[in-house]
Amino acid sequence: MTYVKVLSHELLNDEERLVLKATRSLAGAFGRKYWLEKWSRNEEPSELWERMREEGLTGTGVPEALGGSGMGLMGAVLVQEGLALEGLPVLQFLVTHFSRDIVMRAGTPEQSMRFVRPTCVEGKRMSFALTEPQAGSNTWRITTFARREERGYVLRGQKVFISGAKESDFMLVVARTRRYDQVQDKRDGISLFVVETDNPGIRFQRLNIDTKSPEWQYMVYFDDVEVPPENLVGRENEGYRALFQGLNVERLMIAAIAVGLGTHALSKAVEYAKQRIVFDVPIGSHQGVQFPLARAAIKLEAARSLIYSAAHLYDSNSSGVELANAAKYVASEAALEAIDASIQTFGGYAYEYETDMINLYSIVRLLKTAPVTNELVLSFIATHVLKLPKSY
Ligand SMILES: Cc1cc2nc3c(=O)[nH]c(=O)nc-3n(C[C@H](O)[C@H](O)[C@H](O)COP(=O)(O)OP(=O)(O)OC[C@H]3O[C@@H](n4cnc5c(N)ncnc54)[C@H](O)[C@@H]3O)c2cc1C
Repeated sequence: MTYVKVLSHELLNDEERLVLKATRSLAGAFGRKYWLEKWSRNEEPSELWERMREEGLTGTGVPEALGGSGMGLMGAVLVQEGLALEGLPVLQFLVTHFSRDIVMRAGTPEQSMRFVRPTCVEGKRMSFALTEPQAGSNTWRITTFARREERGYVLRGQKVFISGAKESDFMLVVARTRRYDQVQDKRDGISLFVVETDNPGIRFQRLNIDTKSPEWQYMVYFDDVEVPPENLVGRENEGYRALFQGLNVERLMIAAIAVGLGTHALSKAVEYAKQRIVFDVPIGSHQGVQFPLARAAIKLEAARSLIYSAAHLYDSNSSGVELANAAKYVASEAALEAIDASIQTFGGYAYEYETDMINLYSIVRLLKTAPVTNELVLSFIATHVLKLPKSY
């Protein structure tokens, strides 16, 4: 396939270009056909993950001292974008990277050696368990509780929608160590734990979620799961700061999937618009077809600039929460506009499985809802940037 020109890639330095190129070349060799076949056969994309490990891509964003390939968040964002450009929205890289980033920043050097290093050199994966059925977007209302006992903690509760939970080796679990109704400040009492997923107290129930991807979501039950004290990440009751810093990383990684998939769909639509003849001319010569595609291309570029700026800011001083939220919003909206314009360009053929247009829709639409809904992002910008009164 011929890809549309991505203007923002001209802003990348040599190292960034190299990692993007290496990722695209590896991902392109697998391609959408591999991804959809794996999905239809209900099989994990293990060959892809193994190749990424061999090439050092799973370690991008982790310092070399920990077995990684260096480069910080910008590198991880480019790996995520490069995969998505070739049609591979690899959630396991996203959740692994932003969860281990939290461990690297808030945890001890020993925890980084135990939990982060294996994700780089051994291909181990980490999932992230925050969302709960009752609490929903209101993180402070989670009720999964880690009770302190003599030998460590005992975890009890339930999480929903946890991507790759069963397939992962470690899970970063967000729990309360003080109940909501026992704290003055709702942020108080949040703690983070790394739990090994083969712990006998954990049960997984696969959910019936259709993203046409060979990656699955689970309901996870913690039935008195024993967690040793050395698996607490950061200080007890003070996990919220590390958590929210980590969520910025997640927002940028999801934004990278959005611009990658958006550009993937757009490239296919542009190619099709040049070839499809109706009324004796290629449909791409009509402005009615051109303008939605051009508009989407511009918005994807704008989103990329925000993503790269936010990633560079995070790499320089670990900040950029407002920019990361803005990038997530703009990227998910731009991607949705791109897939919609692309589907329209394909006419009825968009609904044929083989054109792979409608298949992309559900995963692109998801990006407006997860990992944080765009309403919650707007609310964050309204109160933190515009300083408007809090609505909740
Ligand atoms: C495929 C998939 C993968 C996921 N992976 C993970 C994962 O790996 N780990 C994890 O922890 N979670 C994961 N999630 C969960 C995801 O982050 C949540 O679904 C998302 O945060 C929204 O929570 P909710 O579904 O409970 O929606 P709700 O909180 O019930 O919200 C429903 C609607 O109400 C709106 N709303 C709620 N409150 C307000 C308000 N104050 N103002 C305006 N609008 C509001 C929301 O914006 C939304 O549109 C995943 C979800 C999916 C679908």
